[in-house]
Amino acid sequence: MIDKIVKHYNGDPTRLLDIFWDIQDEFDHVSDDHLKELSKLIGVSVPELNDTLSFYHFYHNTPSGKIRIYVDNSAISEIKGCEEVIKTFEAELGIKCGSSNDDFGLFTTSCIGLSDQAPCALIAGYPVNLLTKEKVRGICADLKKGILPKDQIINNVCQRTALLSDPYKKREALSKNLSSKEILDEVSAAGIRGRGGAGFRTGLKWTLCSQQKEPIKYVVCNADEGEPGTFKDRYLLTHHPEMVIEGMCVAAKAIGAKEGLLYLRAEYRYLYDSLNEVIKGFDFPIRIQLGAGAYVVGEETALLESLEGKRGEPRVRPPFPVESGYLGKPTVVNNVETFASVTKIIKHGSGWYRSYGTQESPGTKLLSVSGDCKEGIYEIPWGMSIQEFCQMVEAKDAHAIQVGGPSGKMISAQSNRKIAFEDLATGGSMMVFNKNRDLLRVVKNFTEFFKNESCGCCLPCRAGNIVLNEQMEFILSEEASKIDLTRIKDWSHIIGASSRCGLGQTCSNPITSSLEAFPELYNQKVQEHESLYRHFDVDQKTKDYERVIEEHKNR
Ligand code: SF4
Repeated sequence: MIDKIVKHYNGDPTRLLDIFWDIQDEFDHVSDDHLKELSKLIGVSVPELNDTLSFYHFYHNTPSGKIRIYVDNSAISEIKGCEEVIKTFEAELGIKCGSSNDDFGLFTTSCIGLSDQAPCALIAGYPVNLLTKEKVRGICADLKKGILPKDQIINNVCQRTALLSDPYKKREALSKNLSSKEILDEVSAAGIRGRGGAGFRTGLKWTLCSQQKEPIKYVVCNADEGEPGTFKDRYLLTHHPEMVIEGMCVAAKAIGAKEGLLYLRAEYRYLYDSLNEVIKGFDFPIRIQLGAGAYVVGEETALLESLEGKRGEPRVRPPFPVESGYLGKPTVVNNVETFASVTKIIKHGSGWYRSYGTQESPGTKLLSVSGDCKEGIYEIPWGMSIQEFCQMVEAKDAHAIQVGGPSGKMISAQSNRKIAFEDLATGGSMMVFNKNRDLLRVVKNFTEFFKNESCGCCLPCRAGNIVLNEQMEFILSEEASKIDLTRIKDWSHIIGASSRCGLGQTCSNPITSSLEAFPELYNQKVQEHESLYRHFDVDQKTKDYERVIEEHKNR
């Protein structure tokens, strides 16, 4: 069986993620014996294979049940009751979360792209939403009879502006027949900035890539929206996939690429077939690469590594992907929403696009809004104030807004700030918390998330996220003292300043921003003086330890 699978991918090690998926689909896990066989067939050592396999959450090295259930335990799911959902699954299936029997495996995972319908879970790859005790009992009874849950996703589109209100007609951008230069000029004039969060200017990125002499180039669509609280790309890929794929075709024409890749997060595997059908309708070959669950792969160079069948660890830059990207060739990587927006820019022109938003942040932005408000997808012009936002999403009694997901900032709902690159940038995740929510528990959930998602390449991020998580735990225990608040700020600064990629550079944002916006919440939890427990001097203990070792040697 393994040889058949490998043959299907021509023994190509860059297709390792697909090979692992196929093995797991067949045997419900990828065992050590599978790895040994695979190693001989594709010429990659077992430790290297293991390295890649273990990097991704959705691969299992030991039996994991025929039907795997992953309950979303993101901050929003937590406040909406995922704990009870997990307990009910445990009771109904007779297994502990994190384990499996022959039939079922029960695990937690971070956001599955359904924060407006939490608590939620993936069952055999299909999403189930708005879970209650009763609903879980019904699902489990069906599962035991071999009945899988039906598609339940609600597309809560609450506001449409430029992108979503304009009807799409196939080839509306391509039929303009613009030359490469005309496309680059139009996209640059529109001033669109990457919609994934980083906000790099799309026109500049494409122009730099188009200038590379190398004849083989690639267009990559980053459909790995993993920032907890984001789900707007799921909507675009479900309801406007042509708009996205056409944007990729436009990019290919602009830079001179003959091939594209769409990296689809594993949580959206249920969209794989429908997307492939849409791709067939365009005259541009695009391969869909299914991810396997790793937040850091949302970073573009980590995504390229993953596309090449490796661990999704961010690369050291330079070189940038526009010079050396997929398989070392010049590559443009853009987010789903960016490609969809480009289709409309080419259709209507840059002036139309610039009639929305601000000078620095032209156009509109899709927001995924969840929490204590009217949840759903809102398309807003950049520049909307937080007060207007709260009104729009009917956030009564709002206390805090987490702008941009866990890697973003926690601000007061009373603030006068603006949603725009020049003030509060966001890839789209907007979480609203009312006065009844324990904001420090929310921050703790974020630190847990980053602790699990750090790829471990750099020490400050790997170890620092463990420290931040422990510090938050300590603060919540009410045993911490004021000095711990200084320590947590210092750690945040060290991690942010010395980490290689965006994850490490932003992981402490929720702590520093909540400390700034809600100092009283922290002050209420800490004691004036250092507790006895903290009188543990790590430097002194290290010296003591070294002294004992020396003494031991000299005996
Ligand atoms: Fe990996 Fe963190 Fe370093 Fe990024 S900052 S490369 S996630 S260890």
